[in-house]
Amino acid sequence: MMDITKVNMDLFCEKCNEDTIHVITYAGQKVIKAYCTKCHKEFHTNKDAALAAYTDEVINRIKTKPRRVKAELQSHPVKSVISMPARLITKFFRIEKEYKNIKKELE
Ligand SMILES: [Zn+2]
Repeated sequence: MMDITKVNMDLFCEKCNEDTIHVITYAGQKVIKAYCTKCHKEFHTNKDAALAAYTDEVINRIKTKPRRVKAELQSHPVKSVISMPARLITKFFRIEKEYKNIKKELE
């Protein structure tokens, strides 16, 4: 049986036009949906996106081009997040958080 995990994440909602709390639902390592808690818009991963998340190309892109991934996350945050494997999302966002903390310390 697959573990269902729900994680709250601040993401830019295209409908609300601001950062809102999204509930990201995982089944194992696969993201199955993202849900905006403000406008209640729900995004589902399509089969292709879920499969793409497991390809080496996606994993390499995230590892080797974090800036490009960051840009994608900024322009299409929900779509980008739902096409990534869960462990990469947590990894990426942990890195972002660490970066922000470092930046804060420098200011
Ligand atoms: Zn919204």
